[in-house]
Amino acid sequence: VCHHTMTGPIETTMCDYETIESVNEELYTNLHDLVQTPFFRYFQVDLYRECPFWQDNGFCMNRECGITTVDESEIPEKWRAAALSKIDLPPPGQRIQLPGCYYRDSDFCFLDDLTEGEYFDLATIPERYTGYSGPSAHRVWRAIYEENCFGLSELNLLTGRSPAPVTLPDTLTDILRIPVNGDDTAEECLEKRVYYKIISGLHASISTHICAEYLNQSTGEWGPSLQCFVNRVASHPERLQYIYFDAVLLLRAVARVAPYLSAYDYCATSSVIPHDHPHEPDLMDEVRTRVRLENVLQIAKRTGKFDESVLFRGENANVLKEEFKDHFRNVSRIMDCVGCDKCRLWGKVQTTGLATALKILFEIDEKALDPCNNQNLLQRSEVVALVNTLHRFSESLHLVEQFRDMWKNVGQRD
Ligand code: FAD
Repeated sequence: VCHHTMTGPIETTMCDYETIESVNEELYTNLHDLVQTPFFRYFQVDLYRECPFWQDNGFCMNRECGITTVDESEIPEKWRAAALSKIDLPPPGQRIQLPGCYYRDSDFCFLDDLTEGEYFDLATIPERYTGYSGPSAHRVWRAIYEENCFGLSELNLLTGRSPAPVTLPDTLTDILRIPVNGDDTAEECLEKRVYYKIISGLHASISTHICAEYLNQSTGEWGPSLQCFVNRVASHPERLQYIYFDAVLLLRAVARVAPYLSAYDYCATSSVIPHDHPHEPDLMDEVRTRVRLENVLQIAKRTGKFDESVLFRGENANVLKEEFKDHFRNVSRIMDCVGCDKCRLWGKVQTTGLATALKILFEIDEKALDPCNNQNLLQRSEVVALVNTLHRFSESLHLVEQFRDMWKNVGQRD
């Protein structure tokens, strides 16, 4: 039963959480294959821009933080050429330019200008435990919450508040029964709470991946750490809810832009690529990409019911939207301050993915969504980031199920 009180996206998405739970395995299987295809695995980004907020990034020297790039000659010519010349950079008057990046009025994040930056093969770089932690990591999270979170920070770092008693609900839908701090009583406006949920959900999703592939320092073995998951996520059930929240938001954006994604050119073959090229994508790659993508789009259309129409209405709507955008753009710049390459890469992919979803939901009208009218609606990097970010969140929900099984097994042993 769905409760539609229509006072905001929180209430109207209640039933969508349950729908996602029922389709997540199917969604995850399709996304997991989709992100292995050539189009979706190569992401171009300038990973080494200066941190604009402080000088010392506390760079992580751990081997796990390091990263390797893909030689540009291995990237299908078509995308390289597109990156260098064909992409429609907005004309100078319509963008704010910073060294190596820019944003247009409609963007929720800074985008690289695509003549800088390197290619990374996302399929070979797991998001997992790297050992990046301590004051440097905390400073970045604090900057994201405090400087950009409309003062809604929940960080215990400063207050030293101890976590709530550990509970791991039996089913994912049980999470919905748990009252969320401040949801009903907070004086903050809806948009500000939404902003907090997006960030907290991202943080919780990253934590879930860290705990799922954790390095046991004493044995040197990799594996899931239930304790880590309980401490960082499950003992704060609202964080789990926010992972759902982000998943619904991303799915809704994908559903909205589905005709555009269906019409997108995923074919990378071109006569310029040498035939013996080891990474040459073939026709089968394109077929596989399209089949998997269409499955994802169908699931998104069935389930992505985030009610974006209730946001940015009323008086001050435009001011709020601009404020929201400013905050989110700042998050994309704060990512330059993350002192671990792997973490920074995934941080950038996911903030770009979420920013693309927000742009699709709040900035683009029906006419602009038409793939015939607007072929350059999204850059390749935005499409790649959107799909990979949805994959990350779907994977987190999949991992939560695994932790739940571990939890049950622990309970049976006790
Ligand atoms: P942290 O996760 O650093 O959290 C700090 C404080 O924030 C906590 O004490 C808590 O009070 C609060 N908090 C935690 N979660 C939430 C939430 N969901 N909502 C609201 N408040 C919360 N490390 C890796 O090993 N691998 C990675 O791939 C990786 N990627 C990262 C990407 C980014 C963008 C950043 C900023 C950091 C990344 N890190 C990564 C570091 C990792 O997120 C942690 O900072 C680190 O593991 C230390 O964890 P912690 O337990 O001290 O708490």
